[in-house]
Amino acid sequence: MAVPTIRQLRAFTVRGGGADYHDQGADHWIDDHIATPMSKYPEYRQSRQSFGLNVLGTLVVEVEASDGTVGFAVTTGGEIGAWIVEKHLARFVEGQKVTDIEKMWDQMYNGTLFYGRKGIVLNVISGVDLALWDLLGKVRQEPVYQLLGGPVRDELQFYATGARPDLAKKMGFIGGKLPLHHAPAEGEEGLRKNLALLADMRERVGDGFWLMYDCWMSLDVNYATKLALGAQEFGLKWIEEALSPDDYWGYAQLRRNVPKGMLVTTGEHEATRWGFRMLLEMGCCDIIQPDVGWCGGITELVKISALADAHGALVVPHGSSVYSYHFVVTRHNSPFAEFLMMAPKADEVVPMFNPLLLDEPVPVNGRLKVPETPGFGVRLNPDCALNRPHTH
Ligand SMILES: [Mg+2]
Repeated sequence: MAVPTIRQLRAFTVRGGGADYHDQGADHWIDDHIATPMSKYPEYRQSRQSFGLNVLGTLVVEVEASDGTVGFAVTTGGEIGAWIVEKHLARFVEGQKVTDIEKMWDQMYNGTLFYGRKGIVLNVISGVDLALWDLLGKVRQEPVYQLLGGPVRDELQFYATGARPDLAKKMGFIGGKLPLHHAPAEGEEGLRKNLALLADMRERVGDGFWLMYDCWMSLDVNYATKLALGAQEFGLKWIEEALSPDDYWGYAQLRRNVPKGMLVTTGEHEATRWGFRMLLEMGCCDIIQPDVGWCGGITELVKISALADAHGALVVPHGSSVYSYHFVVTRHNSPFAEFLMMAPKADEVVPMFNPLLLDEPVPVNGRLKVPETPGFGVRLNPDCALNRPHTH
């Protein structure tokens, strides 16, 4: 059977309910005085949207094959991402065989190296890569996890990220990860409040249930060390993304400073095998948390994961719903997964990409069997209006 080629690569933007999950309305826990690197400026302390966390918006990438099959994926990238797809990356994809993902990835990465490497360009390459895996799965009529070597477990188990670990426990999750609210600029009083919230949650969930703190790049080594030492009595399982992603040296120091048994995790804003090589070889963390929509896509995550395995590190990808699930179910060193609580009060399980995606599976009792539907098994909701700001 002749292998189809790729006829066209297209990029769209869409507002709301998409891959830019920071783009939520007011009164959502995800934007309620979260500690950030901008917290030192009082005017940007209350809301992450105030400093522009949601400026990019969602990017939808579609790849259409010569036999009419269409693969797609969503990531964060918006109009600037759409421009890169249409004006630059399309040349490396159109006309290629749908099977030749490795070659297309290498050309996209090396062809953008002079301005790419990390950040938005890697978000966009990730989006194209995920769309290519979706397309290949649909052409072969297989779920992506089968293309990756098949599942190593029957179902995934999840911890929940959100403001209410106590409710997450009742919903069957194995742990709850809180956002840190107060940054070093808020002083000793802020540190006391950070520890008080953890103490309150430990009281509510009892012993044994995992509790973690996501610090979203907001701390320095000294503050993070004090937080970790203070959090030990409340059984904090890990301290996440405490420092700037560029501070590999700080992470290595923090990992030496935290109490024995407490884990240091990071990597959500890291990209490519070379970025993760820095984290792993410098001994920065115990768990890496690549976002498959930002780190280079599935093609790159396979390599990152192998490198982590050889360093004895777990790979627990950041959010990303089905794009993570199809990967996690195929890896021995990814024993559990993250579920981001998108309900404004974190009080119910709702699909992460609602309403943009249809057929998106969600955990029930904290567990999920990845559906056997071809590709990533999701569809674009025809009720969500897509905009194609650039063409080539
Ligand atoms: Mg995080």
